[in-house]
Amino acid sequence: MRPLDLTEKDPSKKVTIYFEGKPYEAYEGEKIAVALLANGIYWLTTSTEGRKRGAFYFGPLPIVINGIKNMDGRKVPVRANMRIERQNYGEFQEEVKIDEKKPVLRYVVDVAIIGAGPAGLGALLEVQEHLTVALIEEKSWLGGDLWLKRVKQKGFDDEPQEVIKAMRDRFNQNVRVFLKTAAIGIFDEGEYFLIPAIRRNQLIEILSKRVVLATGAVDNILLFENNDMPSVFRRAFALEVMNIWGVAPGRKVAVVGSKPEEITAELERWGIDYVIVPNPKRVEGRESVERLIDMNGNVHDVDAVIVADGRRPDINPVTQAGGKLRFRRGYYMPILDMNHRIRDGIYAAGSAVSIKPHYANYLEGKLVGSHILKEFGFETEPCIYEEKLREYEPETVPLHRIEYDSMNLEDVQICGCDVSLKKVYDVVESGITDLQIIKRLTHLAMGFCQGRFCLFNGALLVSQRTGIDMTRIDLPVARPPIKNVRMKVVARRD
Ligand code: ATP
Repeated sequence: MRPLDLTEKDPSKKVTIYFEGKPYEAYEGEKIAVALLANGIYWLTTSTEGRKRGAFYFGPLPIVINGIKNMDGRKVPVRANMRIERQNYGEFQEEVKIDEKKPVLRYVVDVAIIGAGPAGLGALLEVQEHLTVALIEEKSWLGGDLWLKRVKQKGFDDEPQEVIKAMRDRFNQNVRVFLKTAAIGIFDEGEYFLIPAIRRNQLIEILSKRVVLATGAVDNILLFENNDMPSVFRRAFALEVMNIWGVAPGRKVAVVGSKPEEITAELERWGIDYVIVPNPKRVEGRESVERLIDMNGNVHDVDAVIVADGRRPDINPVTQAGGKLRFRRGYYMPILDMNHRIRDGIYAAGSAVSIKPHYANYLEGKLVGSHILKEFGFETEPCIYEEKLREYEPETVPLHRIEYDSMNLEDVQICGCDVSLKKVYDVVESGITDLQIIKRLTHLAMGFCQGRFCLFNGALLVSQRTGIDMTRIDLPVARPPIKNVRMKVVARRD
């Protein structure tokens, strides 16, 4: 087994890959970043400002494969004898090449559900008997965040993967599933909504009468010095490498952030040694984390850090589709009408709405499905789900006080696109508090994540430095494409 393998891999898939000229054991089908991680290699790219970066905190991961630049090492699977080299992060331009010979695929359905986590699946199972459904999911798996877990979750009778498989087995002939397909916007098209979506180099257009945004939440980015260092992991990536790929994030890890319980049971399942450090100040190391220093000056010898600081709803699909937001319980959430709609025809469910357990998100998906059936004239009783949901009060996500005085702000990355906390701090201190202008001046929220990960901390900084309440901060509206593809892909419609 390789240094960080947790499980035996299929020997028939074993191949050799070369990284920076050296041979390594890998398995066909594994993601490149995972294969290298299993070999103990964390440093995979270098930022424009020369900062060493890994694959699992800020994205994407530009690498050179067999001489071809601009490949994303987090997405490309291993093939025998691949020759892989580091590429400078700043040179990366993610580009979707649409195959001009392939005709646009068009589908017309009653309901388009974006996101196949518990909420999306709940909505689907509720409506599929009477309505046709397109389920659009950018990942290669169904089940969203729940699929990444192995520990049984409250409300479900079985282990997460068994729960999802059982739901999958219930899909009927009215359902069409689009995996590895990113919805890039929602547009009005007469009586319908048009959802352009991209699967590799294929443009797909889905016309639907109703839309469900079940697009989930994103992990909070925690601000500490060198938070972009290789071997710092976001919670979801740590879960993915362990539970999907059978590879450990490290031998001894520090769990930082306000929600360590979101990962510790999973680490224990694999017997991975961990320490909880609620107040990280700085990580240090040559090519990856070698130690973590906390705000009290304690030094923890660890080789990886997992940030488990809770999640906040992904607001980009909501604002792009014309929804409005409000700030409550420590996050921005869509304003919904009595029927769970952000506007006529567009529903929202799950952690796209508020932070609560997986089972509650599943119930909320069912609730939305029930409202849709009602709109189509079927006899349903959404109040049954409303009643059940009352047991689940949404969680409050704590707002951190950013430790401006105790940290070297130049070493803290607020956004993966080489935007340090110092850069944004200086602009705010100069009296500029409009996030739209801050974006322009610092490039915060202008890059690959479209602000999904970094904008919130920008708002928090403005609020903490100026005293403006978070409820009064205007977040910029997301523009299409809500996933990072070139505009020509959207424009190309005949
Ligand atoms: P929970 O948070 O409890 O797991 P949920 O269903 O509300 O429940 P997720 O599990 O995070 O939330 O599932 C959301 C899913 O939506 C993810 O699998 C994510 O990949 C997918 N998703 C988000 N945006 C898009 C998009 N634009 N196109 C396709 N899929 C998307």
